[in-house]
Amino acid sequence: MKKGLLIVISGPSGVGKGTVRDKFVKDPELNLAYSISMTSRSMRPGEHDAVDYYFVSRERFEEAISNNELLEWTEFVGNYYGTPKDKVEELREQGKNVLLEIEVEGAMSVKAKCPEALTIFITPPSMEELEKRIRGRRTEAEEIVQQRLAKAQREMNLVSEYKYVVCNDDADLAAELISVIIKRHM
Ligand code: 5GP
Repeated sequence: MKKGLLIVISGPSGVGKGTVRDKFVKDPELNLAYSISMTSRSMRPGEHDAVDYYFVSRERFEEAISNNELLEWTEFVGNYYGTPKDKVEELREQGKNVLLEIEVEGAMSVKAKCPEALTIFITPPSMEELEKRIRGRRTEAEEIVQQRLAKAQREMNLVSEYKYVVCNDDADLAAELISVIIKRHM
């Protein structure tokens, strides 16, 4: 059986990666499996453990780092985020195309370890629009919003490290473009 693709999607926080993803993951032809990340951040309203993330304590996360359980990990705005390694390999061996939705530092370490990874960056139509979307979420303190915006700016500087760049002006269109890109690589 052909090994599945490793697909890495990044984009600044608030760009709408989740919305776009929810649209293209429904396409059965893509044969996708979403890799659920581990995080030490708290759950937002509407999120579920083992669906959106594996929500763990900082101690448990640090144990996962020491045990080499993660393909990559990073600290983002005061919290840990990382990709559990075993599941990714297992799914790819089963022929599934595995999707990681991670920030740029993590994406760069995945690229170094797995140069065959298909990397896609989602950009906002403008930084003003991004700020509006981050504030629209209304779940975070101003300080965190500022940190997310600063990180977004740094992330935008790494766009050229990705194989494809898709603008999320219209989520349906962005999802369609990503489907086409994945199909071209299957
Ligand atoms: P949020 O707190 O908004 O859910 O996620 C913050 C950022 O962490 C997003 O850019 C998201 O893509 C990224 N992220 C989520 N999971 C992982 C992961 O496993 N590894 C890395 N490096 N980043 C992640």
